[in-house]
Order: sequence, then C-alpha cells, then structure tokens
Amino acid sequence: MNYEDGLLNRNILGGLYGQALGDAWAMPALVHPDDTWQVFGGWISDFLPAPDDHPVHSGLPAGRITDDTEQAFALAEAIIQDGKVTSEGAARAIVGWYDRIGGDTCPYVGPSTRRAVQALRHGADLQQTGRFGDTNGAAMRIAPVGLIHPGDISGAVQDAYLACVPTHHTDIAISGACAVAGAIAAALQPGCTLNEIILSAQAAADMGRQLGYRWMGASVSRRIELAVDIADSSGPPMERLKEIYDRVGTSLFIPESVPAAFGVLVMAQGDPKQSAIYAAALSGDADTIGAMACAIAGTWKGAEAFDPLHIQRLRQVNPELDFDGVAQGLWRLAQNRLDALAAEGGVA
Ligand SMILES: [Mg+2]
Repeated sequence: MNYEDGLLNRNILGGLYGQALGDAWAMPALVHPDDTWQVFGGWISDFLPAPDDHPVHSGLPAGRITDDTEQAFALAEAIIQDGKVTSEGAARAIVGWYDRIGGDTCPYVGPSTRRAVQALRHGADLQQTGRFGDTNGAAMRIAPVGLIHPGDISGAVQDAYLACVPTHHTDIAISGACAVAGAIAAALQPGCTLNEIILSAQAAADMGRQLGYRWMGASVSRRIELAVDIADSSGPPMERLKEIYDRVGTSLFIPESVPAAFGVLVMAQGDPKQSAIYAAALSGDADTIGAMACAIAGTWKGAEAFDPLHIQRLRQVNPELDFDGVAQGLWRLAQNRLDALAAEGGVA
C-alpha cells in the first residue's frame, strides 16, 4: 500500500500532531489548578506564551513545544534511521537531544534523563544508566514506539521496554511507558473504542511492570482505573480535574502523571483539543500529561480531527519538527510490521 492511499498514515500523523499540540497547549500551565485558573482567567483555550515567572518554561512563546515533543521526535528519527527500536538508538537520540539543547544548563531536563545522560557520556553501560529512572521521561516520549505497532500491544510493550532501558530501566517507569505505547498501538486499530484503548493501556502497563529493575510505586494499571473512574463521575469538569489532581496526582512520578493523562483523555472523550484544554487546566506536569493524552487522542481520531490553524501554528513556531517526514518513516515501519504479522497469520 502507498503512503498516500492509507488511513493508517492519517492516524500516525494525528499521533504526532497530538503529541505536539498537547505539549504546547499545556506548556504555560502552572503547578496548581487554582493558580492556572486565576492567572489565565479560566480555561486555557488557545496557544499561549508561558508567564514570565513560570518555573520551567519562562520565555517560551505561544505554540512552542517542550522536551516531551523534542525527545519524541529525536526517538522517532532514531527508530526510522535504524529501521527498528533499539536501546542503543534510544540512548543516541536522548544524548543527541541533550547536547542540542545545552542540557547541562537547561531547566527542563528531567531528573532521570539528566542522570542517565551524564553517565552515558562517561561511557557507562546502558543497561545500568537507567537503573533508578522512575520519573515520566520515558512515557512522555514513547508515542513513536506505539505508532509502529498498529493493533499489536505486546509488540509495543517489547519495544517500549527497549526504548526505556538507557534512562528509565525500572519496572514502574517501563509500566508507564508501556501504558502509553499500548494505548497508541490499540488506537491505530480500525474501529477501536475508547474503552478498548483504556483496557489495552492497563494490560500493557501490567506487562511492563514485569520488566526492568524492581522499584517502588503504586500500580499504573490500578491508578488508570482510579483516574478513569473520576473522569467518568458526575460533576462539573473543573471539579473532576481537581479530584484527579488531589487523588491521582500530576507530578513527574509515573503512577501520577501517566494515569492522570488517561483521566484527561476519558473526560475529553478522546478529542485531542479538549484533552489539551483539560490537561492545561489540570496543571502540575501539565505539558507532559497533555502530550501523552493528546498523542493517544490524535492517533485515535487522526490528523483530520485537528484545526488546520492550530497545525499551521505548531509548524510555524516549531520549524524543526518534520511532521510529514517522521510520519512517513513511522508509517513505513508500521506497514512492514502489519505485513510481517499477516504473513505469520497474526493480526491482519
Ligand atoms: Mg515538557
């Protein structure tokens, strides 16, 4: 099948659009929902610049993406270059990104990634550099891994694991990355429902928890259940978001921000823009929650679900992101996997 002919390509491109849109939309949000609500006078309903006193994103203009999308594209480019996901490729992508942005002095490098990159640069064994990585850096950049596994949850889990190894080699971090990758793999299957996406995410999280070094932390799968229950409860949206903030949490810790992203996704019924609005209002590590929720939503709904003006803005403000080239490269790998699975008599 040609790239131009398929529906799959529109969903893959939608996943990349979602990653960037959710990241940029929620970028200006503050640490607590009350502060975000007060400073922006209600919902963040468009791309906005970061407030001057923003603790991490001060100086970023409206529509600017952050580390989540920068790293997701770096990982995607390594996967395309190598023709597959490898831990070496993931390490190369992350170290390259870190050097490009001047990571030693950049405020938005996460703690696990910073520690791992510094060790990798000193020639440490990449099986060890992610030994204590338990934050959400691997989950926030994992979308491309899900995008090359249409309908194949266990394939997405295996490759998400490889991508986590250099920086986030703990069972808890792998579990969170697998939840996102598994959800995206499910969302690429024609006719998949939102409920099936959530169930796939939970199954993938449980599979991921069996991999890597044991580390402390609540079950990602069980906390997705909690976030989805809150999302599905009655009450005004802001009340439910505050429940997610208080009971699930929105910090860098995996069992908070990853489940929170699924709560936002369900509250928005899988709509990419509404997921971004809710992620921004939710606050905390909002850009990462927005990136994860919207990558899943965008994959599910496809590129047509986005306002062309928003896409134009994302392309203008982030000219280094090669949406079309990366989507086409990932599509080729996804199509190869589908062909291989069909030849084996698996998923057609
Ligand atoms: Mg970020």
